[in-house]
Amino acid sequence: MKSQYQVVVIGGGIVGCSVAYHLALRGLTNVAVIERKELTAGSTWHAAGGFHAINSDFDVAALQKYTISLYPQVEEESGQSIGLKMSGGLELAGTPERAQWLKSELAWLRAMGTDAHLLSPQEAVEMVPIIDPTGLTGALFDPHEGNLDPNGATHAYAGAAKRRGVEVILRNRVISLSRLPSGEWSVETEKGTITAEHIVNAAGLWARRVGNMVGVDHPLVPMPHHYLITEAIPEVAAIDGLMAAVTDLEGFTYLQREGDGVLLGLYEQNPRHWAVEGAPWDFGMTLFPEEIDRIMPELSIGFERFPVLQNVGIKRWVNGAFTFTPDGNPLIGPVEGIPNYWAACGCMSGFSQCAGIGLALANWIVDGDPGLNAFGMDVARFGPYASDDRYLRDTTAQFYARRFVMAYPNEDLPAGRPLKTTPCYDDLAAAGARFGVNWGLEVPLYFAPNAEFEENDTLGRSNAEPLVAEEAGAVRTAAGGYEIAQYARYEVSGAGAEAWLDHLVASHIPEVGRIRLAPMLGDAGRLMGDLSVARLEDQRFWLTGSYYLQTWHQRWFRQQLPDSGVALRNITDDWMGFSLSGPASRTILERLAHVDVSDEALPFLAVRMLDVGTARAVVGRISLTGELGYEIVVPTNQHRTLMQQLRESGQESGLRLVGDRAIDSLRLEKAYGIWNAEFTQAYTPGMCGLDRFVAFDKDEFIGREAALRERKEGAAQRLVLLEVDAGDADASADDGIWIGDRRVGFVTSGAYGHHVKKSLALAYVDRDVIESAVDLDVYIVGEARTARILPAAPYDPTSSKLRG
Ligand SMILES: Cc1cc2nc3c(=O)[nH]c(=O)nc-3n(C[C@H](O)[C@H](O)[C@H](O)COP(=O)(O)OP(=O)(O)OC[C@H]3O[C@@H](n4cnc5c(N)ncnc54)[C@H](O)[C@@H]3O)c2cc1C
Repeated sequence: MKSQYQVVVIGGGIVGCSVAYHLALRGLTNVAVIERKELTAGSTWHAAGGFHAINSDFDVAALQKYTISLYPQVEEESGQSIGLKMSGGLELAGTPERAQWLKSELAWLRAMGTDAHLLSPQEAVEMVPIIDPTGLTGALFDPHEGNLDPNGATHAYAGAAKRRGVEVILRNRVISLSRLPSGEWSVETEKGTITAEHIVNAAGLWARRVGNMVGVDHPLVPMPHHYLITEAIPEVAAIDGLMAAVTDLEGFTYLQREGDGVLLGLYEQNPRHWAVEGAPWDFGMTLFPEEIDRIMPELSIGFERFPVLQNVGIKRWVNGAFTFTPDGNPLIGPVEGIPNYWAACGCMSGFSQCAGIGLALANWIVDGDPGLNAFGMDVARFGPYASDDRYLRDTTAQFYARRFVMAYPNEDLPAGRPLKTTPCYDDLAAAGARFGVNWGLEVPLYFAPNAEFEENDTLGRSNAEPLVAEEAGAVRTAAGGYEIAQYARYEVSGAGAEAWLDHLVASHIPEVGRIRLAPMLGDAGRLMGDLSVARLEDQRFWLTGSYYLQTWHQRWFRQQLPDSGVALRNITDDWMGFSLSGPASRTILERLAHVDVSDEALPFLAVRMLDVGTARAVVGRISLTGELGYEIVVPTNQHRTLMQQLRESGQESGLRLVGDRAIDSLRLEKAYGIWNAEFTQAYTPGMCGLDRFVAFDKDEFIGREAALRERKEGAAQRLVLLEVDAGDADASADDGIWIGDRRVGFVTSGAYGHHVKKSLALAYVDRDVIESAVDLDVYIVGEARTARILPAAPYDPTSSKLRG
């Protein structure tokens, strides 16, 4: 062990070893992996070693695909066998809807370039003869699944890293971490104290404890998980070569060949947690006794699906722990306020994700940017609320129990709710609001007519759609009130505020009393935000952005903030309000405001402090619906009063409360993008059309060079609005767009435009296709639907109403 390293990776599991290897690939070799015991001594040694590319986040799925593709290289480079078996994998459907769902998964896999295909239950049995097909409705085969030897794979990563100069130091626990005046880390270990420029927390089951060493409480928790390995099964022994792995989606089990027997693992509906604060430091390479009673319901279903298991001996039980986060994806990246500390933990699918984590993190450490959209794994996608013990237990248990359970796009899951509510929550609920959740906050999706109304879970349009249509109709013909507590707000002030914002965002900075849409770029020219900047005073600004990006945005802001002259305050919880839009909105506001709000006094994109009802409000003339509209924001303790006064004032003008779903329908009629769909870290201004807000004539702003380059070369794909010949389902994010066998794009969001009576989708499509204007196929729930690119928004293309 040396006395100083550029990077110390804490933990020699599959993730830590992959991070070290990827750092070495990027040319960093003054790197040490420090491991408490032996390599694999956490969750890794007892894993089943299975892998697959499927993930609900498309970018994470691409990283899983990368992980699978890298194994042969690591095996070859290290000379260490990893026991790779590319057996392919079968997913079994047990209901007609699940068979339909598999069709969407097939379309999705095809979009990723995977040659998967659907099978009949009988064809599945031909592949894996121990399946009992009773009740099966279909199957999907993905050739890019398989399994490997977890021990071999970890040693291969460590060996390949060592060959490139990385040190692997075993039997040496990191005891504490502290910051030196030089900014380096002092790393106290059992074998002595060393210094490191960067530390990576890849401590798996102990990651929460290691995080605590630097004052971070990571939202992850260990949970036990069972599998069993059988004695030889004649039907399996008779298969010459590999046998496809099987996931019985309705049966909660997965199965893979293990010698001449099988390994059967299960995700039980009644999971439990263990060592919530992190495994004890003296926890060895230990398994828990099997808890047959607890897992019996799922085990019985497994024994029915694979009846030979009823008559074969069980050679070994494994009940070991691994970590879960609220959404099941890992926690990687830098943590705001703790420079050069990097998370690489919370990974429940190490053999599908280790290389993706390693690649993104190594890029991040070397370049200051993951080089790809890693938000689905970014530690900054959660706020402090996620580490609350009860929240963490509820959400991780929900994720575990639903690992194979079918997810419907319109479903809202109950775990950890309600957590955050606005002062209007009870009133909104009394008005019929049915809530979704955004970063822990309850947000109205639509308003039901009575308490008895129940929305059906469906892959198509739900029975709530007529309610959404009424809300959207009210906005087009009268007025809608939409709660905007789910917008994040930051106040930027101080003598250097304007100059700093001018550097931070790509647009010009507005005059006092004006609002400007301001794309914010990273160095590589990809989006960091689609902010609106409102100038309230000469050196006092409000930035409005996405609610769920608060941790992520503040990490970025603080990275850029000068030492003095600029004050940044997150005021999201202090100010809330309503977006009032529709032709009657001016009349409604006039009744409450005690001043002129005509177009002359409050024109489009103006912002004023006004008395609205009894509140001193910040009123911005801006709307997402394409109608005349205002965002009215008041101190949080007056938010409820504002809602009551708006409703009173709006009653005779037909004001209706509206939710997220109506806003989606309305914004698609105007081809307006939003963050998390059309605008994300993956896209550039030229792709998404925000380039029209980029001030290319400014001398300097973050990402300027990349933006100029893109302007010159043109983006390869651009955002377009599609009209889709849909059936009873609209397009949704990641649905592939094809011309014959060529994938030419993908959908970012879809909805039914209730006013224009069209199924609409925003989508990224290859440039040459946009120019050729041919008909396209969009795969919606696995079925091809014809779509056409619309040359203009179908509702008020000249925006006369918005400006009216
Ligand atoms: C029963 C079971 C079956 C599984 N099957 C699969 C599967 O089929 N496919 C799949 O992809 N995943 C599977 N998993 C999950 C998989 O095991 C994990 O995703 C993976 O092992 C996580 O690896 P890791 O490197 O993040 O953590 P770990 O393996 O826990 O490694 C962390 C390492 O950090 C070390 N460490 C901790 N603190 C310190 C410290 N202070 N100083 C020095 N060293 C420290 C530990 O000793 C440990 O070796 C399974 C898990 C279980 C329990």
